[in-house]
Amino acid sequence: MVQFVMLKGHLFRLPYGSDLLEALTEELKRRGIRAGFLSVMGAVKEATLLYYDQGKRAYRSRRIKGGLEIASTVGNISLREGEVFVHLHAVLADEEGRTWGGHLGSPTEVFAVEAFVLELQGEPPERSYDPLTGLYLWR
Ligand code: ZN
Repeated sequence: MVQFVMLKGHLFRLPYGSDLLEALTEELKRRGIRAGFLSVMGAVKEATLLYYDQGKRAYRSRRIKGGLEIASTVGNISLREGEVFVHLHAVLADEEGRTWGGHLGSPTEVFAVEAFVLELQGEPPERSYDPLTGLYLWR
């Protein structure tokens, strides 16, 4: 069993116009965070949401245009092939409050995004290919 100790919390903002996942990953690397829980909130200009087709074992991508609120997210930070990897799921809302949800992908363009990261201390979980699901999962 792997256990962690919470090291510290981080609050930071992502740059206007940046790609959400790229900017987030860059900031985590800059801060040396390799394991953790995270959540982001704010707004994006447009987004990419992915859906994993379990039968075809492939992601399907959906582009959502127009300004969107980030209504909810949940995510984690671990390693994939030795590199910091962010896994983030999001619910996005339009001006009518209609929502879309899924695995957040790139490009997703930041309008104003605030991140909250709980950094965990301990050996970060490593993702590796899982032939049963076709996904990169924790060992
Ligand atoms: Zn996912």
